[in-house]
Amino acid sequence: MPTYEFRCPDCTDFDLVFAMRSVPENATCPTCGASARRRVSAPRLSRAGSAASRVIDAAQRSAHEPETVSSLPGRARSAPAQRYTSNPLHQKLPRP
Ligand SMILES: [Zn+2]
Repeated sequence: MPTYEFRCPDCTDFDLVFAMRSVPENATCPTCGASARRRVSAPRLSRAGSAASRVIDAAQRSAHEPETVSSLPGRARSAPAQRYTSNPLHQKLPRP
């Protein structure tokens, strides 16, 4: 869930986490209890745990310590060549 910034008129700014559909315009200040208004800012979305963050982390890691392998990667298995067809029309073709 994104983090939103709120500004207390008496204290300072603070952050709260809300779902995008339920973010309020005002929140209670955790320090003084006053009503704090939400600041207009971009919601900060977390990338932690996502596929994008794993790829970025792996790219940053390999920039410093390239991954080494001890063997070649396995060959992709190709489907075995089909020697016979099941199409009945092919039964009428001349044989070699
Ligand atoms: Zn306050």
